[in-house]
Order: sequence, then C-alpha cells, then structure tokens
Amino acid sequence: MYIKRITFLVTIFLLGILNIKVCAQRDILSPGVFSSAQIEGVIGQKMRNCVENGVMAKNYELYTVPFKNKLDNGGGFHGEFWGKWYTSAALAYAWQPTVAYRDILDKSASELIKTQDADGRLSSYSRAEDFGYWDIWGRKYALLGLIAHYDQTGDKKSLRAACRATDALIEIAGPGKKKLTETGLQIIGSLSSCSVLEPVVLVYERSGDKKYLDFAEYLVKLWSEPNTYNPKGLRLVEDALAGVDPILIAAPKGYEMMSCYEGLCELYRVTGEKRLLDAAVKFGKSVLKKEIMIVGSGSSGELWCDGANRQTEMLEQPMETCVTVTWMKLCYKLLQLTGDPVWADNMEVSLYNALMGAMIDEGEWWAYFSPLIGERMPSPMQVPVCESSCCVANGPRGLLITPGWSVMKSKSGPVINLYSKGNWTQKLETGTELKITQETNYPEDKDILIRIDLPKPEQFTVSLRIPAWSKNMNLTVNDEKIDCVPGTYAQIKREWKNGDQIQLEMDLRGRIIRAPGSVNDLAVMRGPIVLALDNRVVKNENFNLWLLPQGTQWVQKDELGGLKYVLPKPTHTTDSPDQYIELIPSATKPSDVWMAFEVPFLYRYTHFFDHKQINLVMCDYASAGNQYSGKNLFRVWLPQPLFMNDIFPENTWHILYREGDTRPVVPLKK
Ligand SMILES: [Zn+2]
Repeated sequence: MYIKRITFLVTIFLLGILNIKVCAQRDILSPGVFSSAQIEGVIGQKMRNCVENGVMAKNYELYTVPFKNKLDNGGGFHGEFWGKWYTSAALAYAWQPTVAYRDILDKSASELIKTQDADGRLSSYSRAEDFGYWDIWGRKYALLGLIAHYDQTGDKKSLRAACRATDALIEIAGPGKKKLTETGLQIIGSLSSCSVLEPVVLVYERSGDKKYLDFAEYLVKLWSEPNTYNPKGLRLVEDALAGVDPILIAAPKGYEMMSCYEGLCELYRVTGEKRLLDAAVKFGKSVLKKEIMIVGSGSSGELWCDGANRQTEMLEQPMETCVTVTWMKLCYKLLQLTGDPVWADNMEVSLYNALMGAMIDEGEWWAYFSPLIGERMPSPMQVPVCESSCCVANGPRGLLITPGWSVMKSKSGPVINLYSKGNWTQKLETGTELKITQETNYPEDKDILIRIDLPKPEQFTVSLRIPAWSKNMNLTVNDEKIDCVPGTYAQIKREWKNGDQIQLEMDLRGRIIRAPGSVNDLAVMRGPIVLALDNRVVKNENFNLWLLPQGTQWVQKDELGGLKYVLPKPTHTTDSPDQYIELIPSATKPSDVWMAFEVPFLYRYTHFFDHKQINLVMCDYASAGNQYSGKNLFRVWLPQPLFMNDIFPENTWHILYREGDTRPVVPLKK
C-alpha cells in the first residue's frame, strides 16, 4: 500500500509537470495570475461584492449535507451545490488569497472527502440509486471542486479523492458497464451525465494516469453510438462539425450541452486532436449565431429556442443565468485555445449586460432568468436545504473568471482583453516582471491610458483587443499613431521601456442594432453596453416615437409658416450597414443607475406636419429594472414605431415563475 502510494505521488509529480507543459503548448493564450489582477472600477466593485457578500458569506457547511445524507435519492439535484459553490470560492481565493479564505477551502474540501465511501464513490445518491437523474451531474461538480482545491493549494488529498471518485465512476460506467449516454434525465438526452467529461480529463491532466484519458475518450466515442436515449447517438462532435443549429443537436438543454463542449475543449488540450477543437469552435459559432441574444446570453425555459431570431418576443423564462455563465466559460476556453478575440468581445458583452444584470443588490443573490422586456425577478429558493438555487450558485463562476481573461499571457507578451481601471503584473518569457496599469473610466468614457512598468528595457509584443464594434478609434504609443483593425488584436512589437504609455480612444458612438429576425425592431448599444428604456425615467405617452439616427435628412419647406419633416425610408438599408445615433450623457438619473443617456427619437404629429425630435433617457441594461420589483419596468428592443403607451408590460413575473401566486423576493435578506 505504502509503495503504491509513493509510486502514485511520484507519477503525479512527474507526469503533472510533463502534462502542464504539453497543455501549455496547446494554449495560444494562457490565463493571467489571478492574484496579480488588481481590478478596480465597476467590475472590481461587483467582484468584491460577489466574494464578500455572496460566495464567502455562504453557510458552506450546508453543501456537504446532501452527500452525507444522500438527500438526492428519488431524483434531486442537491449534489451540484457543493462543486458550484466550491469552484466559485476557489476562484475568489485565487484572486484574494487570504488566510481566512484558505481556511474555508481546506475545511470544506475535507468535509466533502469525509463523505466518500471506501471504494471512492462520492455521490449525493445512495448506492441503490446509482445513475439517478442528477447523480453523475452532482459527481461531476464534486470532482470539479476537488480539482479546484488541488489546483489552488497543491493538496494531494483532494487530487487523490478526485482520482478515487473517478475510479468508482469507471467501475460502474467504464467499457462494458452502464453507458453514461443512457443515464440522467432522458428528456435532456443524458447531456448532464456526459458533461462529466471535463473533470475526467482534468483528473488525467493532473494525475497523469492514462486510464482517465482512456475513459474520457471512451465517453466521447459513446456520444457517437446509437442508444436508447438518443437513437441516432448524441452526435455532439459530428453535428457541431456539420454546423447543425444548437437547437437540433441531441437535446436542446443549453447549459448542459455547453458543458459537454467545455469537456471537449479539455480533451483537445491534452490530446491535440484538432477535430475536437474544430467541433467546439464550430459549436460556439453556431450558438453565437443562432442563440445568443443582444445582452450576451440565451435560452427560454433553460432550452435553446432559436433565440437570436426570437429575442424580440415576450419569451418565457429567458436567459438562464447558468446559460450566461456557461457561455462565458466556454468562450473563455475557446479564447485560450484559439487566441481569437471574437470570444473576448462576446465575454465583455455578457459580463456588462446579462451577467451584471443578473447579480442582485450587493452580490448576495442572483436572478434565475433575465428578460429583455418587463421586470426582473430574483431566483426563487429552489433548494432550501442548501439555501440556494442553480443560478445563485453559478453566477459567481462567470464573474470571478475575470482576472484570468482580463490580461492574459502569450509567448510573445501580454494580451489585454478587458479595459478597466486597475493593474496587472506578469512574468515575461525571459522572467522579467512586467506591470501594466490602466487609468480609465471605460466603458463610461472612451479614453484608456495604459502604462508599462519594467525594471529594464526589453523587446516583446503587447496585444490589445480592438473590439469588432470599435470602427473608428485611435491607438498611440508614446504619441506615435499605430494602425489597428476592429475585431483583431493590435500587436505592438517593440523595445518597451519603463514609463511607456499606450493610449486608446474607443469608438463609443451610439450604435443602432437591428433585430436579427424579420421584425422591424431596433436597439441601441454604446460600446459593449446595451441600452434600455426604464420606467423610472421614461413615462407612458399617447404617441408614437421612432429612433432618430445620426444624419437623418430633415426636409424644410417655407410653406404654411415653415415645415420641417422627415420623409420615411425603410429601416433596413443595405447601403449603410452601420447606423449611429447621438447619445448625450443624461444630467439626471436615479442613484442606482450606472449610465444614462439622452437618446433622440422622432415625433411625427401628423403626416408631414410638426415633426420634431424628442429625447428619451436610456440606461445600461444591467441597471434597467434593477430594483427587482414589479414596479420597475424596462425594455430593450424598440418596435418602429414605438407606441409609448404600450412600452412597459406589467406582471411579466408570471412568465418567469410558474410555481405559485406570490412573486419571489430575495430570500435570506436581512
Ligand atoms: Zn440555473
């Protein structure tokens, strides 16, 4: 036994080093060191609130109870809470490595390990209920949590527990045993069980034991085989490669489906099998094209819904926060593996809109669904035993990955993805320590000043994300103008020296966004921020308004005392794909609204008489409706024309929540 243990540890040590090297080679961009990312500004404040009032304020002892007492017997999903919370807590600790947080991590991991059976089985279901609806799903989250503990602390006990839990899984679900593709809820086509791929690969990466890689590859092979749940097989790789719409792949459960592709990314990372990465990238692009709505999330009732085209409708239970988070996490993996800034562009939109809008108050609770019209509603308490809900446990995981992708590392130098006040340090390939300081109020203001601090001059490349929407921008280094192309990284290779300054001026003109479907609805964005009408600042009126783009041709006639009017033109014009609109910062706004702008609309009294401009205040989507009450209403998409007496539908919480007659409120609120 002793010899076996020593061999195991040596293998972990040697192969661990080997695999880390192999994997680092696959990453085009690797995450920044979390603890070196001193993120300030709005994002930094949200993250601190999320950590201090949310993640680290939870009664974490509740999360191990389901494993101890097998609370999920009969089909429950209590098992997911420990791992979801734990991975958030591990991200929080990575960012703010305090002794107190470390203590929480150690205690909770050790409590979970105590619930592990002698043969390694780690489940919230009793043995008689192996493969219960959410059994493998809960085991997956337990594995992710244990791996997070090992990654943050190097504690081998957690890695050993993860290996043993995977051994127990292989024992019942390895080749010749029960197929995981025929487990879990049949209506979601075993996607929940199959997503265990991700931690299985992570266990292989860290242990170096090939049996875990074999199991992962076996699992992916199973996806292609016909089975009782999916007569044609899940076909996650084949359908993604063929560009099949996400809604038509396997079963349309958005969050679980994306989790399977997260696992595929990890399998590519260890095997280098290009087909797997191609499948994940093509899948990500299909999701983006067909399902992701303007604020950076998707789904209706947790399911894919052809959302890009249908987002102007009054959707039921739109944009589950779990979908927002998993979409961001998938984008993050694709960004690491491909270095394509399109994924960072999309993460920025999700972060500022869908995700920030879903975090309630000071970070202690989250929304389950986030509509584009109506009212916001806190997630109901789904699981009182754990004092949580799926989205409440998941939300922080999306926010707390920010230090990793904000400033990343490439072989040639730092890669700046997120513009925010703060500073970051990283070691260059040569070992030199580089400090990057950003002075900016972006995305409120367009100017970003980046200062380089170095102990000695050195040649390397600073890559700067130039968002695809920033068509008209300025980039200078020490006042020397640098060309840049929207939708790419501007790569500035030079000998950098201490005190060098990069200045970016983003194109924050208001952009008119056309609905992707066939309806004549428009929306307004400013940089990554989606704007919305909110009934705290806009009232119902008995007239129609039209958005008034910049460059609108007014017609002036001296007849009848002087006529000034606008002749109608189709909204969809192919000759001007980009339409802009003037935005003036609003002099007044409610105190809990972050950004607000005067937006010009056209009022047409009658045919060509008395046309005039009326400004309405629009605020950032995350602030819209943020009182989370039935009285605070908002909308994003603007039909043309917009009948002002019909802009804010009431009582929409009924289509967000069907289980009772009482509108959910934030539970546990003091
Ligand atoms: Zn959820």
